[in-house]
Amino acid sequence: MISSEFRAVLSRYPALSGFTSRVTDFLDAYVAGPVTEDAAQPPWLALRKRAARAGLTGFDLPCTRDGRAGGPGGPAEREAEAAAGGVPPDLRRVAQGLAMYLAGRRDCDAREVFSTGHGAMALRYGTPGTVRAVRERVVDRGELAGVASSEPHSGSDLRGLRTVAVDHGDHLLLSGRKGLISRVEEASGFVVFCKVIAPEQAAVLAVDGTEMREVPLSALWVPMDTAGVLTETAAPLGLRGWSLGHLYFDGVRLAKDRLLGAPGDGRRIFDAHFSGWRLMMALVCLGAATATIEETMARARQRSVGRTSLANVPSVASRLGTAAAEVQAATAWCFSLLERIEREGDGVDVAACSAAKALATDASYRAVDIGLQLHGSDGYTRHTPMEKRLRDIRGLRIADGPNDALYSVLAHSLLVGPHPGAPLVAQRRP
Ligand SMILES: Cc1cc2nc3c(=O)[nH]c(=O)nc-3n(C[C@H](O)[C@H](O)[C@H](O)COP(=O)(O)OP(=O)(O)OC[C@H]3O[C@@H](n4cnc5c(N)ncnc54)[C@H](O)[C@@H]3O)c2cc1C
Repeated sequence: MISSEFRAVLSRYPALSGFTSRVTDFLDAYVAGPVTEDAAQPPWLALRKRAARAGLTGFDLPCTRDGRAGGPGGPAEREAEAAAGGVPPDLRRVAQGLAMYLAGRRDCDAREVFSTGHGAMALRYGTPGTVRAVRERVVDRGELAGVASSEPHSGSDLRGLRTVAVDHGDHLLLSGRKGLISRVEEASGFVVFCKVIAPEQAAVLAVDGTEMREVPLSALWVPMDTAGVLTETAAPLGLRGWSLGHLYFDGVRLAKDRLLGAPGDGRRIFDAHFSGWRLMMALVCLGAATATIEETMARARQRSVGRTSLANVPSVASRLGTAAAEVQAATAWCFSLLERIEREGDGVDVAACSAAKALATDASYRAVDIGLQLHGSDGYTRHTPMEKRLRDIRGLRIADGPNDALYSVLAHSLLVGPHPGAPLVAQRRP
């Protein structure tokens, strides 16, 4: 049994059924069941490389091999569709969401195996040279791209970032510290958010001063083998399949063509990318929660308490029903937003995507907590997947924007957005 909302998406887009079968076959071959902490952990990066050979890292490609965007119906679009393993260009985001949901059913750490991931920003906004290099590494070879936004003093507050790229005309010199961030050991390159400043500004701007807050954000593609990039790892509570830690940039010299978009385009790139990405992380968690509900229902049917099965205890059924309802509602919301992103592109509703990620990861966490409880002491051990899922989803309630901040984004857009006080639903006049 799989979430009926997942089935509903597939029935709306039968063109994606071959794609989901390929993802499922891949997972069946290499991550056959849910991962527990007690078992040997899958070799995640090696699996991503296998996924690249199976054509499962580039299906969401925003452009063709030579960097051209795929225009509707044109040869570039047909080339993009062929390269994307048959995923139609107008269904790339939905396909990515389906892959994330299926990955999450096996393990939250499987989230990095499929798609271009954060490499999509370099592929979408990079110069042709960057696009070619990132495509070869991240799509063809199955290497991993990371994103470095957070800094030790400022994770949620993007304007407070202090990493600077000093513009020396023909090159940039990048200095600063990022963390805590994912993939510091595995990624072969990072999209780094920073402030581009002139050398004379560097001399007068106090890095922690208010003037620095006014400098607009920029984004750079930084290959990890560039001289001056250093890493340091930390021990996370969950999501341990991929490293977490700090990146240090010690006067890293980068050609100007490493810029994504123009200087100052960073916030636009961040919002456009993270709206979709947050929905992907939401769907990873919803996949994990759905698997938990199914496993818990199977156990509740078999387990007897007194003369009846656990499933017949009204409060058990009610809690499982509540969890299933919340998870299905969040799944429907996430896919409906992905469909809007397919249609509207950059006109994406950032606030709704932010709140949907928060709602989905919170609902998933509650569902897994109920599942753990209904597995009794077994659920509290490392040989069921419940405790690992709980720790993993816990991380995704902070990563990619802490949930409380993301709910506030929706509230803010309703309170002071373009139409403050407008009803959420237009009423028909009597
Ligand atoms: C597992 C994991 C992986 C991560 N991976 C990456 C990565 O790959 N790249 C990257 O750049 N970053 C990454 N991060 C960092 C993450 O984006 C930040 O931790 C997050 O944005 C919060 O920033 P902070 O840790 O500085 O917390 P703070 O900004 O100090 O916030 C602390 C807490 O205060 C509350 N809070 C903050 N702001 C608000 C607000 N506006 N409204 C309401 N409450 C608020 C929230 O509860 C928040 O958790 C990762 C984090 C985790 C846990």
